Amino acid sequence: MRTKVIAGNWKMNTNPEDATELVKKIVSSASVQLAPSLVRVVVCPPYLSLANALIAAGGTSVSIGAQNCHHEEKGAYTGEVSPVVLAGMGLGYVIVGHSERRRYQLESNEIIGRKAARAHECGLTPIICVGETLDEREDDITTDVIGTQIRLITASAGEDVVKASVIAYEPVWAIGTGRAATPLQAQDAHAFIRSELHIFGAQDVSILYGGSVTDENASLLFSCPDIDGALVGGASLNADSFCSIVGVANEAAR
Ligand code: PEP
Repeated sequence: MRTKVIAGNWKMNTNPEDATELVKKIVSSASVQLAPSLVRVVVCPPYLSLANALIAAGGTSVSIGAQNCHHEEKGAYTGEVSPVVLAGMGLGYVIVGHSERRRYQLESNEIIGRKAARAHECGLTPIICVGETLDEREDDITTDVIGTQIRLITASAGEDVVKASVIAYEPVWAIGTGRAATPLQAQDAHAFIRSELHIFGAQDVSILYGGSVTDENASLLFSCPDIDGALVGGASLNADSFCSIVGVANEAAR
């Protein structure tokens, strides 16, 4: 059975004290406490808030993830963060290939695949992001784009790494815009991604939808057969909204 996952991407928000408060609220929510048997809950604060988040989540079922890592364990990479250090701190997950990093740090599919491989080798579960821009959707090349992303990342990371990862389908035009994909658009993309994964036996990988998920649109999205949860940006910064989304996922998983 595929694992349901709700992951929060806090982006460059929260200082360490904010992170402590937010994680404390999340771990004390009834829906999150109910989740472990149904849904895995992950929060991904900025690097400098990770230690506080880990302490606040200690002894609970909530996992902490990073928003990025380097593709090498160590070396002359000024300002970078090693996945071996993240894993050693006690993190469980790391997001790789978020569209904001593709856009602002010009990360390629090849580098994203190498990050996923190194993260996996260090004991982290990569959350690998793919998704098309608005122009690409309007040009009707959505499946070409996400198919190419998956093929190039798999060629770089290796099939076994992708099999052990989580995929997040995040249409770029839906991120932070308040304009989520419709359930039909999301389901179509997820079914396509699953068919690409099926080619090398990775069809049971969890595929999360990301892009303006709220507690209002979550229910219809989670009722789609190929949507296994969500990567949540803006709404994950509000404990009530995030925990409501976890509650909706619990209901869908029953
Ligand atoms: C994200 O940044 O991964 C994301 C999905 O953001 P939002 O939920 O704010 O669209």
